[in-house]
Amino acid sequence: MTVELICVGTEILLGNIVNTNAAYLAEKCAGLGLSCYFQTVVGDNEERLTQVLSDAVSRSDIVILSGGLGPTEDDLTKNTAAKVCGRKLYVDDRSMERIAEYFAHRDMIPTENNWKQAMVPEGAIVLDNNNGTAPGIIMETENCRVILLPGPPGELIPMFEESVVEYLNKLTPEVICSQTVKICGISESSVETTIKDLIDNQTNPTIATYAKTGEVHIRVTASAKDKKQANKLIKPVVKELKSRFGYDIYTTEEKTTLEKAVVDLLLANKLSVTCAESCTGGMLSARLINVPGVSEVYKSGFVTYSNKAKRKLLGVKKGTLEKYGAVSSQTAEEMANGAAAASKSDVTVALTGIAGPDGGTKDKPVGLVYIACNVKGNVTVKEFHFQGNRAKIREAAVSAALRLMRSSILEYFSRVTFGK
Ligand code: ATP
Repeated sequence: MTVELICVGTEILLGNIVNTNAAYLAEKCAGLGLSCYFQTVVGDNEERLTQVLSDAVSRSDIVILSGGLGPTEDDLTKNTAAKVCGRKLYVDDRSMERIAEYFAHRDMIPTENNWKQAMVPEGAIVLDNNNGTAPGIIMETENCRVILLPGPPGELIPMFEESVVEYLNKLTPEVICSQTVKICGISESSVETTIKDLIDNQTNPTIATYAKTGEVHIRVTASAKDKKQANKLIKPVVKELKSRFGYDIYTTEEKTTLEKAVVDLLLANKLSVTCAESCTGGMLSARLINVPGVSEVYKSGFVTYSNKAKRKLLGVKKGTLEKYGAVSSQTAEEMANGAAAASKSDVTVALTGIAGPDGGTKDKPVGLVYIACNVKGNVTVKEFHFQGNRAKIREAAVSAALRLMRSSILEYFSRVTFGK
């Protein structure tokens, strides 16, 4: 089955907002086994939207539109889509009630144009919006299903997960299931080389790799008559991937992030943690603190940007800074050790680097980052060379720090277990 995406909004065309809805929907649809051959962005213009939507309806089994369901004049997706599908709009009582409730709950009074959002096309399936006022709409025509979703990701994503996934699953006689194997510390090209034979011979399940910052995800997707059969097809492939990548796989759970895997490792081994950050300015702490339950293990974080702070708060030696510089393996190591002495945490991790755009030299170019991890006195220091702008370098450094924490902890326990 084919699916086509249309994102409506002049602000997307102008580059004022990034089209994250397209990325989200495309990835989800691929996971559901739908083939996406076209994606379009169109401004808030009735004529051009009519043209784009008419083309989409004529060539795709499913068309998903995002945006333009709001109450204002330029929100014309619903009216235009209804016209293209030959439907009139009527007032949906339930949507009226939900809009009234939404405003009452917030102690707000709706404006006249808010009620426009309760108008729905005849014969449409109306999807509840639990996070806003615009309901989602599904119109089924002879050859196509047209699905309208609100633009704000905070409304679109829950609506897709709560209602649309189930609807799409019912359309195909086969059930599509997928499992994601998440790998860290290996490049996408070497992951692909390692599994080239599996990719070349794939039929059902299919195997696809996705590069993320500092990670590679492999999605194994199977179609079968029911969930049990699909999972039966997926299982041996995941087992094979586990045997090829071993500990480089940090999870096979869709919802588990790298920071969650690291926090789980800390929790499982009752290890407290402290971060000492220079170029990342607290981003590592922020990622760890994203994980619910981290309070059991997270003790403290130092943001030591200046040399003075590195000396005063972490005890980095003046001589080390003078001889090797703030961005050096020696300083990173002293930062991690100083954080351990100051916090008494079991695990400390320190980052120091040059995020740019200025400050790089021939010997120490922009993107050079040293990361040190101290696990109960065992210190590992690594040198990294990241590419990209300041934001990319800092983001890559945080991912690398999480990977180093994970590998250092695993290594520590294998050393303890096997007496290496
Ligand atoms: P509202 O009821 O809030 O007006 P809407 O369905 O009319 O919602 P739009 O007005 O098109 O949606 O967009 C509202 C906001 O949603 C945008 O300002 C933007 O922040 C976000 N948004 C819209 N489309 C996208 C998109 N494709 N990707 C990411 N964010 C988007």
